[in-house]
Amino acid sequence: MKVAKFGGSSVASATQIKKVGSIIQEDPQRKFIVVSAPGKRHGNDEKITDLLIKLADTHFQHQPIDAILNKIMNRFSEIIEGLQLSKAIIDDILQSIKSILSSTITDERKADRLKSIGEDSSAKIVSAYLSSLGLKANYVNPKDAGIMVSNEPGNAQILSESFAKLYKLRETQGIQVIPGFFGYTADDELVTFSRGGSDITGSIVAAGVKASLYENFTDVDSVYTVNPQIVQDPKEITSLTYKEMRELSYAGFSVFHDEALIPAFKEKIPVCIKNTNNPKAPGTMIVSSKLQAEKCVVGIASDTEFCNLYVSKYLMNRELGFGRKLFQILEDENISFEHAPSGIDDMSVILRQSQLTLEKETTIVERIKNELHPDIVSIERDLAMIMIVGEGIMSTVGIAQKATSAFSEANVNIEMINQGSSEVSMMFGIKAEGLNRAIQSLYRVFFT
Ligand code: ASP
Repeated sequence: MKVAKFGGSSVASATQIKKVGSIIQEDPQRKFIVVSAPGKRHGNDEKITDLLIKLADTHFQHQPIDAILNKIMNRFSEIIEGLQLSKAIIDDILQSIKSILSSTITDERKADRLKSIGEDSSAKIVSAYLSSLGLKANYVNPKDAGIMVSNEPGNAQILSESFAKLYKLRETQGIQVIPGFFGYTADDELVTFSRGGSDITGSIVAAGVKASLYENFTDVDSVYTVNPQIVQDPKEITSLTYKEMRELSYAGFSVFHDEALIPAFKEKIPVCIKNTNNPKAPGTMIVSSKLQAEKCVVGIASDTEFCNLYVSKYLMNRELGFGRKLFQILEDENISFEHAPSGIDDMSVILRQSQLTLEKETTIVERIKNELHPDIVSIERDLAMIMIVGEGIMSTVGIAQKATSAFSEANVNIEMINQGSSEVSMMFGIKAEGLNRAIQSLYRVFFT
């Protein structure tokens, strides 16, 4: 049995959903289907989830919602009419939205329920369409499927008891269409995963039903060795390990949600990234281990908007508890960190810039000065991180030398290097303005 997840662009219009129908028809093993909300049809289109978030915000601000609600309903009507499905589905979607808006629950709860409408409606539409093709298909609500989550609105975590419940889905007849992106708490509250979370649902369902394969259908032929927006027509990755994918997706490879691999990984279910628009292409396989690393560097990922909190104090190495106190300040201020390369007398803590408002920055710097008495404390903004990823990196001689020569050829200064404890990646911090040059040069060195 396979689980096939279709992303936003695969269900963005009637034409796209017809492709989804053919893909499902082609392989009777595709028994569990997980869908996203309709995404963008073209570059400057809007995703249904973004529209639903706007609808929620407008409603919370007591502003008129008609324009935005019409936009949402027009998108759904167009899809439903294009697939020649019953208009009753449109009424059902509108009714669901209206009843959420008029309910007396908290805004946080309302927001999650509204956000879920995209996926929920998508699943109803796809299952009705499959039935219209003569297939036996059912819409399954995540509660009935057994997707139980923690009570963290907008950032749910799966609860372990879900998996045994999901296993029972194996006994069902026909194709089960499940909306992605949300689950239910023990008290029956609907809670969504973080953005892009339909990938997580797909992986959870695959782990729960112990699928032979988790197919993740998107709009690219494969995962690429570098970001195609930086290097034209980069090489495709045919296979990579869970660990490699985790590192790549963490640092800016947007094909797959970085939390989504964990459930599949735990059950050792292979994942295949495929293209709805070109399903014959083999795609990229993600597996637990590769027989032999043909090439030790599989990909180069990068992301911007990082900052470096730098703290230096003479004899820091002898001061017991220095690191703990520094991290405690960050924890108190609700800030998580990404990397923490350190030296004898100094420590750098790399943070996502979005967390560090100017107000937070002042508080943190003041607290560090008062509580840790450093010689220097500074914050550098607008950094980019580059990760060179591959399981074979640790055991191959000369990777760092090749990488540093690529930076020097691109005339980009390396601010930070961290090979750290990870066995699969080497990280470089640079000023964001040099990013494209650096990536192009690294690509030349490692892949051409
Ligand atoms: N529709 C949700 C989002 O845009 C979840 C997803 O598509 O995976 O974040």
